[in-house]
Amino acid sequence: MPRQVAMRAAFVGIAANSCLLALKATASGLSDSLTIFSETLNSLSDVLSAVVILLCVRWAWMQADWNHPFGHRRAEPIAALIVSIFTAILGFEVCRSTVIHL
Ligand SMILES: [Zn+2]
Repeated sequence: MPRQVAMRAAFVGIAANSCLLALKATASGLSDSLTIFSETLNSLSDVLSAVVILLCVRWAWMQADWNHPFGHRRAEPIAALIVSIFTAILGFEVCRSTVIHL
């Protein structure tokens, strides 16, 4: 059951963040606002993170096989690492862009 809950949460996250991404990208294009553009990047990061989480949750719950005799449970910390790297890169880029525009 926890796997199904995690998968459902990832699907809902992808759908909701994709809608937000489309709205913010449209608003960003119309307004030429740096703030809305940074929010667009934030939503893009959320969509990518949700996709990574979905893939890694599926992978983490696979049964042990010949190549991975202890199972695939370490996929979840790998997902957390990837998502944190996405977030750090996004935060750095938004800070850099903001300082340039000052
Ligand atoms: Zn394997």
